Amino acid sequence: MTPSLDEGIVYEVIRSPRATADIVIERDGSLVVRAPEWADDAQIAAIVASRQYWIYRSLAEWRDLNATGVLREYKNGEGFLYLGRAYRLLLVADQDEPLQLKNGRFTLRRDLVDHGEIAAAKSAFRDFYIAKGTERLRGRVGYFAPKVGIEPAGIEVKELGHRWASCAASGKLAFHWKCMMAPQTVIDYIVVHELCHVHHRDHTDAFWNEVDKVLPDFAERKEWLRKNGAGLDV
Ligand SMILES: [Zn+2]
Repeated sequence: MTPSLDEGIVYEVIRSPRATADIVIERDGSLVVRAPEWADDAQIAAIVASRQYWIYRSLAEWRDLNATGVLREYKNGEGFLYLGRAYRLLLVADQDEPLQLKNGRFTLRRDLVDHGEIAAAKSAFRDFYIAKGTERLRGRVGYFAPKVGIEPAGIEVKELGHRWASCAASGKLAFHWKCMMAPQTVIDYIVVHELCHVHHRDHTDAFWNEVDKVLPDFAERKEWLRKNGAGLDV
């Protein structure tokens, strides 16, 4: 997994048992080539070179979409997302949980941001999304798994770095807590996408056909995530 350099294009190579190579721009803007085990460095460099135009165009697009980073302030009135809707923040003196969503507002214990430290407030939001997400995603995975024809070994919601979701060889699915900021329709797309990876580890036509069978309008949901994914943060 050492980053490689090819005519100015920096990419990381991940080899695994698969039939074809797949080039993706990760959420952090890095370029990853998922390659079959038999492909040597020269073959991979040739694949990258053949898709140069697409790579440069996609990287430029990624920079445009990510030009405005998320800067949320932990103060009264600031909007925070949950299931695709923004709820205003209200700082409160005391409450049972560090962060709650009730009566159409996020209420956050004031002492968590008292000294201008936002780490505690950020983790209160993370914990909130993980708790809500674990329950909701378990339900959605339970709903979609029979449609895809698989039986997942369980789910987990956690920090996943630049990935929205992942699927372990054990059949256990993991979802990024940030998924909970997206609309339900987009969360369902992430769920179905990951479930289909149990059958197909790569993004071949066979994989997308499988997604399409369950969610015929998946392209719109996928596009929403591509455009708005960078804004899903706290
Ligand atoms: Zn995928």
